[in-house]
Amino acid sequence: MTGTETIREREARYLMQTYPRSDVVFVAGDGTVLVDEDGREYLDFLSGIAVTSLGHGNRDLVETASEQMARLDHVSNLFYTEPMVDLAERLSEGSIGGPVFFANSGSEANECAIKVLRKHAAARGIASPEVITFEGAWHGRTYGAMAATPALIDQADLGPMLPGFVQVPFDDPDALESAFSPNTAGVMMETIQGEAGVRPFSEATLEVARRLTRDAGSLLVLDEVQTGVGRTGSLWSYQQFGVVPDVMTTAKALGGGMAIGACVNSEELGQVLAPGDHGSTFAAGPVASAVAGRVLEIVDRPETLRRVREAGGRLVDGLSDLSGVESVRGRGLMLGAALEPGLDAAAVRDELLRRGLVVNAPRPDTLRLLPPFVVTDGQIDRAIGILGDVLAEAR
Ligand SMILES: *Cc1c(COP(=O)(O)O)cnc(C)c1O
Repeated sequence: MTGTETIREREARYLMQTYPRSDVVFVAGDGTVLVDEDGREYLDFLSGIAVTSLGHGNRDLVETASEQMARLDHVSNLFYTEPMVDLAERLSEGSIGGPVFFANSGSEANECAIKVLRKHAAARGIASPEVITFEGAWHGRTYGAMAATPALIDQADLGPMLPGFVQVPFDDPDALESAFSPNTAGVMMETIQGEAGVRPFSEATLEVARRLTRDAGSLLVLDEVQTGVGRTGSLWSYQQFGVVPDVMTTAKALGGGMAIGACVNSEELGQVLAPGDHGSTFAAGPVASAVAGRVLEIVDRPETLRRVREAGGRLVDGLSDLSGVESVRGRGLMLGAALEPGLDAAAVRDELLRRGLVVNAPRPDTLRLLPPFVVTDGQIDRAIGILGDVLAEAR
């Protein structure tokens, strides 16, 4: 029995079977490179789903985490701690300027946004608030976030679902306008839908969402859980789309591998939740907060963001030249390669993994590439080479 079989068997025995996993056991990582149990190296063009944006084993983050863990590990939110307040200040000042609620994941950050939406609506006299979401959206797997995620709500065996959510077709400003009612608490959306296969909204639809929510006195919530923290080439993606939300959520890359999420209100919106409305034991613990602060400090440098755009440009050029790739969607280092009809993205993904390139396939026709910002030109060219070989054989 090999080590892999042992671990597969124990996984099947001891974990709830909620994930179909790819057939590899990773044991170490350095920068863009992952190492499996046999010592084989892989190029990581997925970054743990847009999490390890500064590369595996980043020295600055390892040092920050170790020092903070040794100095003060956890005291709960019943007390003040400096890393938490430093991070809130950096996050608020670097985005929409209002108060921050900390959580431990993207779903939880969105739970806070849903509470803000409902409480804000209640203050406007709305008894049955409705949140408008888009088909293809992904806001998470907790019950609130799941209700905002149309792909997840038709699971009768997990019901009943949380009421008060309305879905409209993707990127359709007219449908969005028609969905507005006196009960509308606001619109919750991504700028680029990640799990739907890297589908960007048009700037026009975002502008309509902004105008309609502002005119109605309701809220625009932008879920930057995947697009944020530099992934698209600016600190937040809304900065490129030309709209400013009332509420923004973030997680994934924020923690550099530590579990942290955040929900930020705009300066204009200010405080909406009050003591007792929400909370979390773990959230904004000193270690996660210290690391997240370091992540934001590193990402929010002109040279980091410029490199994301440059590397993204090189990757787009390389992908666009490959036969088998029909189009490339996305911005910065958040890219979806749409494969030509007849190619099965999941089969291509599996073959890429066998040849040492890690990506994923969020849709049957799309590969998603989310390499870390430390990826080199040489690594991009190598990845394109592997992908070219695999696509040529698959066609
Ligand atoms: C991943 C993701 C979430 C959910 O985050 P979790 O940390 O998995 O709970 C929410 N929104 C978007 C846009 C995401 O990509």
